[in-house]
Amino acid sequence: MLKFITRFLGAEKSRRQPSAAISPEMIDSNAREVVKTLQKAGFEAYVVGGCVRDLLLGLKPKDFDVATNAAPWEVKPLFRRARVIGRRFQIVHAQFGREIIEITTFRAPADPEQSSASRHLKQTDSGVLTRDNVFGSMEEDALRRDFTVNALYYDPSSDTLYDYVDGLADIKRQTLRMIGQPATRYREDPVRMLRAVRFAAKLGFAIEKKTAAPIAKLAPMLGQISSSRLFDESLKLFLSGDGLATYQLLRDHRLMAELVPGITHADNLATADELYALAFANTDQRLAEGKSITPAFIWAALLWPQVAAAAAKLERSGLSTAIAVDEAANKVLAKQLARTSIPRRFSQPMREIWELQWRLPQRFGSRAERLVENPRFRAGYDFLLLREHSGEALDGLGEWWTRYQQCDSDQRRQMVNLLGAGGPRKRRRRKRPAPSKRADQG
Ligand code: ATP
Ligand code: MG
Repeated sequence: MLKFITRFLGAEKSRRQPSAAISPEMIDSNAREVVKTLQKAGFEAYVVGGCVRDLLLGLKPKDFDVATNAAPWEVKPLFRRARVIGRRFQIVHAQFGREIIEITTFRAPADPEQSSASRHLKQTDSGVLTRDNVFGSMEEDALRRDFTVNALYYDPSSDTLYDYVDGLADIKRQTLRMIGQPATRYREDPVRMLRAVRFAAKLGFAIEKKTAAPIAKLAPMLGQISSSRLFDESLKLFLSGDGLATYQLLRDHRLMAELVPGITHADNLATADELYALAFANTDQRLAEGKSITPAFIWAALLWPQVAAAAAKLERSGLSTAIAVDEAANKVLAKQLARTSIPRRFSQPMREIWELQWRLPQRFGSRAERLVENPRFRAGYDFLLLREHSGEALDGLGEWWTRYQQCDSDQRRQMVNLLGAGGPRKRRRRKRPAPSKRADQG
């Protein structure tokens, strides 16, 4: 272990090199301005983290973060519109129009007692403890980051890349490697397990063996994370455009069952897995096409096998379909909310999507027409297709609705009439005295 650290903190203070793949004009102009302003005031400043990683890989960074040796209260007065945020770790948000540049002061690893890497640092460097901020040197700041590819610093003023942890080599090797002892780093912050999977899927990188090894065993530690943080992470995992690859990795590393505790208890797991995979593929495709997406759809799919099983059970116990579905939704959502929060603006549409799954088979009379006009029809119909494609036996219901939407009103009436005589009302039954097969559950 010590050797490992010595390598980080060896005689060669940093691996400093002019960068080939990255150049100053690739850096967002506001971020460049922030770096210059800090440097002019006598501080060190660099762009850091995901933006450097993404630029080196030829990807478009989501946002630009700046790291500096200036304390938050030294940073703030340098910018016209800046606020200090965060309690435990104060950072500064500098606002430029609609863009926010996050400015973070170098800090040492958070809990020196927990990692030998940090203890070593504590002995070798003087991290000043002020309030809750443990400030540190630039090297320490690199070591407290999660993956080597996320710990690269770039100074656009001098076009210099700083690499303390061999991050550049890992970018070239397409490898995601945890800085320090992986198990220790996951214990410090279990969300890092989710981040490993997220970056591996997004970048198409392999998770290095030692980095991957502890995940399955430590996965249950995600139970210690607040439900709101887990929900935020779930959105990054599910809705970033690489949902399918992310889902498969989450499943294989036993993380999925931690995010969705009921997922392994679902009936008919093979179909369920297919349903989830299709839902993610569908969302990825919509994102690629620039279409709108909602977390409600993915979450409705992830919880669907549980809702369907619970509703069927309640119906068997004698409840009406409507009440059974409603109670099943309550039960499944309550269980999920203990793990990840799901804001009501998403859980309400989820309920409506589920409810529609029981209403879409009921097409008699004017019901079909009223359903098409339901504001949630489109989502309910898309969800129905998803179920059908995943292998649920739905007797061609999805296809029926596809055709129905393409027809004019005369044809639509005809389609409803052709459904057979199994209509719910007596009057209809008298009209067609010889009902054949019931294509309708209503
Ligand atoms: P994205 O493209 O998703 O924004 P990112 O690498 O920029 O990826 P952020 O969550 O924006 O990720 O975090 C910025 C940087 O902060 C990371 O690159 C990493 O260096 C560091 N970081 C973030 N979260 C953690 C964590 N849980 N543990 C250690 N370091 C972290
Ligand atoms: Mg980022």
